[in-house]
Amino acid sequence: MTDRYAVFGNPISHSKSPFIHAAFARQTGQDLTYEAILAPLDRFADSLESFRQQDGKGANVTVPFKENAYRIAGQLTDRAEKAGAVNTLTFANGQISGDNTDGAGLVNDIRSNLNFSIVGKRVLLMGAGGAARGVILPLLAETPANLTIANRTPGKADDLRKHFSRIETGSYQSLAGRQFDLIINATSSGLSDELPPLPDDIFAEGALAYDMMYGRETPFMMLARQHDAQVSDGLGMLVEQAAEAFFVWRGIRPLTAPVIAQIRR
Ligand code: NDP
Repeated sequence: MTDRYAVFGNPISHSKSPFIHAAFARQTGQDLTYEAILAPLDRFADSLESFRQQDGKGANVTVPFKENAYRIAGQLTDRAEKAGAVNTLTFANGQISGDNTDGAGLVNDIRSNLNFSIVGKRVLLMGAGGAARGVILPLLAETPANLTIANRTPGKADDLRKHFSRIETGSYQSLAGRQFDLIINATSSGLSDELPPLPDDIFAEGALAYDMMYGRETPFMMLARQHDAQVSDGLGMLVEQAAEAFFVWRGIRPLTAPVIAQIRR
């Protein structure tokens, strides 16, 4: 019998996940369907439960429901627990298990697709929202020299120190005079064509500037290019987090490079 999966969000019509998972299923010969479901803002739990009752095997969860999914899951992986958010749910044996594959997606994209090693590097993460929090543990697992988190509202970055050791936090102003080898934009500033107030000399020689947004050239990416940094958008992360979810559900790791190339085309 064909297994059913879905992604829940609001809005959801823009989602590339159905395309990505259909490509993974074809490539690996897995018999599954994957649909996009628009959940009403106040009815996510009902919408998810109805899908589960209709033989759903698992679901991805996107904006704005990742924290709701975290609360609904009966079991959590360590990375989901630390992230405080769930983007991958598995329904099996009457249980709902929650995982978070965003961080693995980011790290896999940086390491495997961009061939950039994080080991021993000075890393700056901009933002302290759900996306930033989800990638901290996987980034630390790569043993960078340090991980600094800067946020427009510095108190929100400081709060992260309650959940993670081995991080430094602060405001953008506190970065003056420092340089980083890897700078990750996990803010939504690009949506409004804005740029977090980064000091000008922040990019070390050979730095990688990574913006989690995709589908547009953000002011952060433009600034990084002006400083001769290597630049990437977040499309690879999107496909890699999907591949990690596919692995959680099906135990098979699909090839991601052809799917990334297909979407870019
Ligand atoms: P949240 O709303 O939870 O957090 C937004 C963050 O952006 C906050 O830290 C906020 O700072 C900061 N911010 C917003 N506007 C500005 C600005 N003009 N200048 C400086 N900082 C700003 O969003 P998420 O964490 O869920 O998502 C962040 C981004 O990551 C989104 O663009 C999303 O599309 C992307 N993303 C990409 C993924 C992928 O697979 N490629 C996966 C997940 C997310 P403050 O605290 O001060 O408000």
